Amino acid sequence: MNSRLIFKQICTLCANHEGGELSLCPACLADLPWHSAPQCPQCAIPTDGSICGSCLSATPYFDASYALFAYDYPLDRLLQHYKYQETLHLAHTFATLLSNQVAPKQHIDLIIPMPMHRTRIKERGFNQALEIARLVAKQNNIKLDYTSAIRTKYTPPQASLAFKDRIKNMRGAFNCHGNLQGFSIAIVDDVMTTGASLNELAKTLKQAGASHVECWVIARTLPKS
Ligand SMILES: [Zn+2]
Ligand SMILES: [Zn+2]
Repeated sequence: MNSRLIFKQICTLCANHEGGELSLCPACLADLPWHSAPQCPQCAIPTDGSICGSCLSATPYFDASYALFAYDYPLDRLLQHYKYQETLHLAHTFATLLSNQVAPKQHIDLIIPMPMHRTRIKERGFNQALEIARLVAKQNNIKLDYTSAIRTKYTPPQASLAFKDRIKNMRGAFNCHGNLQGFSIAIVDDVMTTGASLNELAKTLKQAGASHVECWVIARTLPKS
C-alpha cells in the first residue's frame, strides 16, 4: 500500500492542516514544548549542563535521561489523550520523534518499555509505553524485551502521592528474571515525573547485570521557573 495514504491525515492538534507522517502539521510541531534547555545529563532537569544537586546527593541507578518535551500544554493533553483514549496513531508520532532525536546518538543493545502491572493493563487495555517502545525498536533495529522485567506490585497512581511516598511506593515494584549481563539498555516511558519508577526499574535491571541504563521519555515534568 502507498504509505502516503496511511499517514495522510489531519493534524491532531489544529485539525486545519494536513498532519503528514507525524499526524502533526509543521506549525503545531514547532510550537510543542521541546525540552532543549541545558540540563542534567543524568535526570534531564534544567541546569547549566552539569549534574544537578539531587543526582549528586543521591546518584540514580540510571546513567542518563533524554526527554523530548517538557510536560506542558499541549503535550500533556496529547499524552493523556494517547494514554486514556487510545489514539494509537500517536504512538507512531512519539516513536518517530524519539528515533529521530535520541536513538541515533546512543549505543543501545536492548529496549525495555516501562512495565505495567497486569491488573492495570486489564483496566486500560494496553501498555502505552510498550506501543512506543515496539516502534522505536523496529525503527532502529534494536532488540525489544518486554518480558524479562515485570511489575509485581500494583501501586496507586504516582500522581496522588507526595515525593517521599513515591519512592517508598516503588520499592520492590519490579522483578527481572532475565540475564541482562553486560547489556546497554534504554527504558522507554511516556512521562518522567520524579523519576522514582524509572530509578527503581533501573536498579532492578542493574541487579540483573545491565552495564548501562538510560531513560528515553516523551516528556519530563520540569520545575516551574
Ligand atoms: Zn496543526
Ligand atoms: Zn539530575
